[in-house]
Amino acid sequence: MKRGRKIFTDTRGRATRRQVLKTGAAAALTAPFLNASLAKAQNDDFDVIVIGAGIAGLAAARRLQDLGYAVVVLEATSAVGGRIRTDWSLGAPFEVGAGWIHKPDGNPVSKMADEIDAPTYVTSDESYQVFAQGGAAVPRSEINSKYRDLMRLYKRVDDTFDNDQSLSEAIRRVSQDSLQDPVLRWMMSAYTEFSTGGPIEKLSAYYFDEDDEYDGADVILTKGYDQIPKSLADGLDVRFDTVVEAIEYEEGDGAAVYTSTGTFESYFVICTVPLGVLKKGAISFDPPLPKAHQKSINEIGFGSVTKLALKFDRPFWPEDIQYLGYMSEPKGRWNYFLNYRTFSPENILLGVSVGDYPFVAEAMSDPDMIADCMGALRAMFGEDIPEPTGHLVTRWSEDPHTFGAYSYSAVGNTPADFDRFAKPVANTILFAGEHATFDFHGTTHGAYLTGLVAANLIEDELAE
Ligand SMILES: Cc1cc2nc3c(=O)[nH]c(=O)nc-3n(C[C@H](O)[C@H](O)[C@H](O)COP(=O)(O)OP(=O)(O)OC[C@H]3O[C@@H](n4cnc5c(N)ncnc54)[C@H](O)[C@@H]3O)c2cc1C
Repeated sequence: MKRGRKIFTDTRGRATRRQVLKTGAAAALTAPFLNASLAKAQNDDFDVIVIGAGIAGLAAARRLQDLGYAVVVLEATSAVGGRIRTDWSLGAPFEVGAGWIHKPDGNPVSKMADEIDAPTYVTSDESYQVFAQGGAAVPRSEINSKYRDLMRLYKRVDDTFDNDQSLSEAIRRVSQDSLQDPVLRWMMSAYTEFSTGGPIEKLSAYYFDEDDEYDGADVILTKGYDQIPKSLADGLDVRFDTVVEAIEYEEGDGAAVYTSTGTFESYFVICTVPLGVLKKGAISFDPPLPKAHQKSINEIGFGSVTKLALKFDRPFWPEDIQYLGYMSEPKGRWNYFLNYRTFSPENILLGVSVGDYPFVAEAMSDPDMIADCMGALRAMFGEDIPEPTGHLVTRWSEDPHTFGAYSYSAVGNTPADFDRFAKPVANTILFAGEHATFDFHGTTHGAYLTGLVAANLIEDELAE
């Protein structure tokens, strides 16, 4: 370690990691929080440093602190939650990041929502109206029949090829015309690009939809998704506005974590920063991460999703329909709207851009982005609709602590590329976060579960 002192060695007469953690854990049986505050008082040495106060980091920290470890969470921003953030400035919950608990039956995030009595609203995928590019409403029978075509198309892609390629290329090869069919094209974007977070031109035809899910209809948290991370963070030692810049580590010797506010030391580090941050190399590792980990960082897909909430003084859309689709061009441009009137008194439409379009939209000024989105709404509802009276916008690709929305299977990626993150580096550095699980990547529950996996690995194997 060049910049830090060695954390502790036998030769200096200090306890080994095993002895210290065992003692800490034993003390914790009687006074778990005393153990944590004691360690805090001693030169900021901790059993475990967790980097990032998103749901993965908070889950890990919560579990380890409950087990009696001295844990600190280092967070670059001034709030917990990361990609779970709720903004109430329009009078209703605008979910800057995650909006839905997907498939809540058996979902651990839904269990947490129940435990804190967070009210939920069950959304209905059956409540929709889709508009063609010229503005004509598309009959539901056509949408239903095209959806079946899409499923058949994806099955043909699945059955046909032995080598990986992009989803769009595979579709072109099995059914040349499908990419030009406006309804199928809209579905490939509004359904597939939205749920995966990546453009069909980059998604792996093999693995884009091989991840796992629970059951049930998606729900919205009507009092805000951020209730979940806030409740997880209760009682944790979170150091805000602390940007991690470098990590030095050595097997059996712990790690030194260099931040914008000073140096922290610990036996283990759980790094939960988003894949986009790892891709940028915003944190340097000494020694460098193993090649396999670096390959995962470089190659796993990481896209963006743009949300724009527009508030109006009156609704000009069907108030009882939950989702409004628009077959826009370019593909991915404001092609899906959530109608707040179905669960809130506010006249808000939340538009999303997906696939490649977020990188276009997020480079626009707010007025330009609003005008772009209003162009879609005017095509759907006529030229006379009013201008919005308020708006909120996201630019995840430009967020310096995320650099995108969520991970996706890009061409050539395999499930092992995601799951590799669950393997500790030098038995000291662990990774968690939505990108660290193939089965549930890109979700809040996936991120949460990876935090628990990292914590359990420390408790069950590494600290033994
Ligand atoms: C637009 C959008 C829509 C989504 N919709 C859904 C949805 O409907 N349902 C769903 O289940 N999931 C959804 N997701 C995905 C979900 O939000 C994420 O998978 C999950 O919240 C990620 O949690 P995490 O703990 O892995 O990462 P994060 O929440 O990103 O936490 C990482 C933390 O690390 C911090 N950090 C970064 N760099 C540093 C540094 N150098 N030093 C210190 N701290 C640092 C960040 O500030 C952040 O707080 C959505 C995401 C986005 C962006």
